[in-house]
Amino acid sequence: MPATTRYKTFLLFGAPGSGKGTQGKILGSIPGLVHVACGEIFRDLRVGSPLGKVFLDYSSRGALVPDDFTIQLWKEHTEGLEQLGRFDPATDALILDGIPRNVAQARLMDEYVDVKRVYYLDCEDKEKMFLRLKRRALHENRLDDASDAVIQHRLYVYEAETAQVLSYYPVDIIRRINTDRTPVEVLADILADIRDLAIDVEKETTDEA
Ligand code: ADP
Repeated sequence: MPATTRYKTFLLFGAPGSGKGTQGKILGSIPGLVHVACGEIFRDLRVGSPLGKVFLDYSSRGALVPDDFTIQLWKEHTEGLEQLGRFDPATDALILDGIPRNVAQARLMDEYVDVKRVYYLDCEDKEKMFLRLKRRALHENRLDDASDAVIQHRLYVYEAETAQVLSYYPVDIIRRINTDRTPVEVLADILADIRDLAIDVEKETTDEA
């Protein structure tokens, strides 16, 4: 894919339980924004299929699925959305949730995505995050939320590997959003920024004309 056709992308970044999925789903319902959640791509794999087994093996331990496998699956999924007419890179932007999950993935994705913003959903109340994950285990029947030890391990992996992704991207495209507030307040902040960004882009085009 030539550099000029990289997907215009907004990253939703943050620890498990920080609210990426909640925000991603709402943002993805807005025309022009397409939400792609990596965990959901994995969960949609048939449990008995070879790929589904690989996912279960890692996720049930709270571990990350290997990078090459993850990026390949994400890429195929996104191309599938294009073929189905649900994502048009010429007019739409991707809202990525849960990917990239470490610096190696960020590097592998560089040739496909043009990251315009990283929304860093920062939840200072760790206890609240933990409880959200426990609640989710009941509602969504997720194996990886079921045991305290697995949740702890996922939070550890986030600190050890995922947090470094923030320093991979230029500071000026990162927006820290405090998620110790209501989903409406968090959404309002993200939307205000996306709106301003669109205005900036328009201004640039008008100035150039
Ligand atoms: P959460 O945001 O709560 O961690 P996700 O649905 O994003 O939940 O991820 C669930 C699991 O799927 C992860 O613990 C991991 O095993 C796997 N997974 C999701 N995204 C990735 C990724 N980008 N790289 C590797 N593994 C991933």
